[in-house]
Order: sequence, then structure tokens, then C-alpha cells
Amino acid sequence: MAKKAKRICYVDKTQYEYCPRCSDAPKWHFTFCCENCKNINYIIDEYTAKYITATEAYEELEKCDLSNYDNFTDYHKQMVDEIKTNGKKKSTDEKRVKKVETKVGYDE
Ligand SMILES: [Zn+2]
Repeated sequence: MAKKAKRICYVDKTQYEYCPRCSDAPKWHFTFCCENCKNINYIIDEYTAKYITATEAYEELEKCDLSNYDNFTDYHKQMVDEIKTNGKKKSTDEKRVKKVETKVGYDE
């Protein structure tokens, strides 16, 4: 019987081997090829469950390695894109009150 199961990472579809019996690998390794993928998926989960805001998710994603983005599943690509779009918008600039300055021009 096959001792090692070939698994495909839930995030970036990387093929890897995981043997639940002989390996000391943590449980998440059953679903994800590496901790980075686990983290990315976790952030997306938190975001879709609305435990964290897009901004927070964006900040967390920044800490992850997204270089494998092209291999991500459509779902993960879509979510990363959404977090990037929505997370970027809300910067501290929003809190800044725009001062309306009426400058008198002397140019003319
Ligand atoms: Zn992976």
C-alpha cells in the first residue's frame, strides 16, 4: 500500500508528500504545503468571516510570501486581489481632515 499520500496544497496547488503516520508534521501540513500557504489561507478566512478588516488583512498579507501568486487557486487569487484593493484604500489619510485653504493668488 502507498505509504505516502501525495497532497496538493489548498492554496497554491503545490504537490507535496504527507504521511500522517510517520511524519511529525503539524496538522496544517495535511492541507497546506508550507506555513506560508497556511498563513495566507488563515488571513483570507479571517477576512471573509469579518474577524479582521481588509486593512488588517492587507497588513498581514504583506508579511507573507506572495511570489507564488500565479499558482494560487482562483479563489485565493480573487481574495488576495480583493484584500489588496480594499485594504489599500483605507490609509491614515482618511482621518486627515482636508483643510480648505483659500490662497490668494498674486500671479496676475
Ligand atoms: Zn502551498
